[in-house]
Amino acid sequence: MTTLNPASPAQPSTAAKSEATIGPSLAEKGNLYTIAQRQFEKGAKAMNLDPSIALILAQPKNELIVNFPVRMDDGSLRLFKGYRVQHNNILGPFKGGLRYHEEANLDEMKALAVWMTWKSALHDIPYGGAKGGIKFNPRSVTKGELERITRRFTHSLGSNIGPEWDIPAPDVGTGPQQMVWIMDTYMNVVGNQDRNAVRRVVTGKSISSGGSYGRETATGRGVVHCITEWAREKRFNLDGCTFTVQGFGNVGSHTARILSKMGATLVGVGDYRGYIANPAGLNAHKLADHVAQTGSVADYKYGKAIPREEFFGLECDIFIPAALELEVNTPEAKALKCKLVVEGANGPTYPDAEEILEERGIDLIPDILANSGGVVVSYYEWLQNKRSERWDLEEVESRLEHTMKRTYGIVRDYAAERHISLRTASYAIALERIQRVYLERGIFP
Ligand code: NAD
Repeated sequence: MTTLNPASPAQPSTAAKSEATIGPSLAEKGNLYTIAQRQFEKGAKAMNLDPSIALILAQPKNELIVNFPVRMDDGSLRLFKGYRVQHNNILGPFKGGLRYHEEANLDEMKALAVWMTWKSALHDIPYGGAKGGIKFNPRSVTKGELERITRRFTHSLGSNIGPEWDIPAPDVGTGPQQMVWIMDTYMNVVGNQDRNAVRRVVTGKSISSGGSYGRETATGRGVVHCITEWAREKRFNLDGCTFTVQGFGNVGSHTARILSKMGATLVGVGDYRGYIANPAGLNAHKLADHVAQTGSVADYKYGKAIPREEFFGLECDIFIPAALELEVNTPEAKALKCKLVVEGANGPTYPDAEEILEERGIDLIPDILANSGGVVVSYYEWLQNKRSERWDLEEVESRLEHTMKRTYGIVRDYAAERHISLRTASYAIALERIQRVYLERGIFP
């Protein structure tokens, strides 16, 4: 029998090893939920949202915090804080990623959950919005600890997640392995006969464990479909253009690799450990191998180390923030020397910074449109699991391309007709769909 180790009392928070990251901390960045609300209010005004529906949408339906103990490799117990925020499910089950990050907090989760509601509605996918995660640094634990943390978190969430209720997916600090552990834990607590029927409790799984072809690259591919549509409209040649990327994880690295294949040149990149530049170009594929080996773009020998401030002032055609939220504030917006900002990350731009970009004639493709390829293919994965099907890569990618380009076109036309930004248009379209359903169904009782 295992006993609690008196020398290692449970701690109030994860107390993860702190790690120096470049740039402002989340605490210094301000409240993400307030910023999400400002964007929502603009979108609501643009489509005359009914005040009673605005009231319902102003707060998530459910905000769950769980504190759960995990046995660490040294035998001690550590207490972890986990979140799951379920914003809205009028259009379908709650859906959204799980983030493992040392600064995860409730208001951040609320903002991220709200954005998921708009993203699904914007594409007319039958999902609502949710987000969750655990407050700890996944780089500070061993693989065995990571597995136990993930499984225990899943157990603590219990029936608050489910294949027709709330379906998590990867986000910052999580990937296919964590999704497979969640699936396996969930499968093991339902009855034997239901096991395979609940495989779709998470998306973003590995292909071998029921994931979809094309899911891992889907968000980056969706970002590139938006860029392609923008370029077509502007008669801008992507072959030979230059771009920079902040964050070289799932979204940033796949976006960079796909854009490179189209003839665009990556001239600057940065992550939590540092920034590098090379005006002659960085090979995105080799850089991804370097990150797989070392965990960071810093120290990549074909790039020159530069400070964060210099990165934002690099000459390029397209800038893709694909790291964390609120990285583009007014100094960064003034420094940028690009034609287009494409939000691979969720919420990377402060509203004041967005105004500066607009004044400076820099186009912006907003997060809820640009990075929605992930939830689109998550939906395909969920459908495949539900129907016991396996779609080949070509089918997944052609469906994704069709969906992204169709939605981009709808947003562009809506924005042009009303002389509003692509962000406000995306919100307005999503809110119109949600409002229609509320008006038809009414409020119970
Ligand atoms: P990830 O964990 O795979 O990669 C995150 C990247 O950001 C890493 O390169 C990391 O080093 C970097 N980073 C972290 N802190 C940083 C800092 N302070 N400064 C600079 N770089 C920093 O995460 P991801 O899945 O690629 O997600 C990135 C963004 O895209 C997040 O905003 C996420 O919510 C959003 N997003 C992800 C998906 C998805 O399918 N994974 C879908 C939609 C949106």
